[in-house]
Amino acid sequence: MSRYEEVRAFAKKSVEPYTTAADKEGRFPKESFEALRQAGYFSLLVPKEFGGQGGSMADHTEVCLALAESCATTALCYMMHNVATQSIVASATEAMKKDKLPQIAQGKKIMALAFSESGSGTHFYLPEIAAKKEGDKFILNGRKSFVTTARFADEYLVDANAIGAEGLDIWSVPLGADGISFEDAAWDGLGMRGNNSMPMVLNGVTLGERDRIGAAGAGGDSLNNVIAPFFVIGLAAVYSGVATAAQNTAIEYAKSRKYPDGSVIAEIPTVQEHLAKIYYLTQSARHFTIAAAQKGASAAADLFAARINASENAVEVCRLAMKVGGGNAYAKRLPLERYLRDAYAAAVMAPSTDVLAIWLGQALSK
Ligand SMILES: Cc1cc2nc3c(=O)[nH]c(=O)nc-3n(C[C@H](O)[C@H](O)[C@H](O)COP(=O)(O)OP(=O)(O)OC[C@H]3O[C@@H](n4cnc5c(N)ncnc54)[C@H](O)[C@@H]3O)c2cc1C
Repeated sequence: MSRYEEVRAFAKKSVEPYTTAADKEGRFPKESFEALRQAGYFSLLVPKEFGGQGGSMADHTEVCLALAESCATTALCYMMHNVATQSIVASATEAMKKDKLPQIAQGKKIMALAFSESGSGTHFYLPEIAAKKEGDKFILNGRKSFVTTARFADEYLVDANAIGAEGLDIWSVPLGADGISFEDAAWDGLGMRGNNSMPMVLNGVTLGERDRIGAAGAGGDSLNNVIAPFFVIGLAAVYSGVATAAQNTAIEYAKSRKYPDGSVIAEIPTVQEHLAKIYYLTQSARHFTIAAAQKGASAAADLFAARINASENAVEVCRLAMKVGGGNAYAKRLPLERYLRDAYAAAVMAPSTDVLAIWLGQALSK
């Protein structure tokens, strides 16, 4: 069995049963996360020497894609854990790696990302917050605007302007640190309704050198060379998974929807045209995403293009699938409207597809 097939089997059994409730009730899919923990998925990117699986960008992509076919919210939250983990793997000091990576590998530490701020919006690499230095301590004050997996993650990567150096710092802040609180605005988004995204307030959070990922001012390198590539391809994977779920539902439904004369809508040429487009857009999203991930973090143009392609294709696939599903889709008797709502998040998550298109154009023009 390939890794993809293995994750699909796992997700059907241990994730899918909780997807509808997470969406309807807007609640974090904690049962799915617990199952992921027990099955060892949180160790995917932790190197073997620290007890993990030593997975690559391609593994990260495959697992996120396969999970998203069952639950986009679970896949998104899991994806962010992997991105934060990879940042520690690639950029942390040896002391931090020794401290955190074995705990992550054992499923004792779930990670999340607290980057976005209300001010800088989609430009998460331009934070307004900065730590203040007091003796050998660093004090963080400020507010992060969208923090997925809020309260359910054990540790949050926070980007801030560097102190005593040019550039950015990335801090790893534990959930239980004094001064951390969440603004209890339950997430009531259009889609990704279980992701529990909410603002995080940092009020005099006291950190030491050992809580910073890498040297002072090195956070920008980690953002550009590790976090952005793993995040961008992770989003491409999540939305390829959403497109795949919509594709499969539309094809099955078209074959099963019967009229009184015994004909099925799959026999109608216009419906077949919709299915054809749904199929080639979905396959384009999947294959490009997997191919870009296999090239790795240095293939920036491919990663950016794969994410834009998957994001736009997912929305178009879901729009067409809604047509195929007709009134049953609109009446929410099929999961297609959830896929459509989840797919709409693809364009706005930072860096938004508009910003990414600019970066892609610039990369191609060099
Ligand atoms: C489901 C979900 C989960 C999220 N989870 C997290 C998380 O865990 N951690 C986290 O840190 N953040 C998270 N975010 C926040 C997200 O990554 C973005 O930062 C946020 O959505 C930006 O919203 P905004 O309205 O401030 O965007 P704005 O910056 O106001 O952008 C609004 C529009 O303007 C466009 N735009 C802005 N600047 C440019 C430009 N220079 N060129 C072209 N177009 C431009 C954008 O493309 C966008 O369409 C999440 C968001 C969502 C929807």
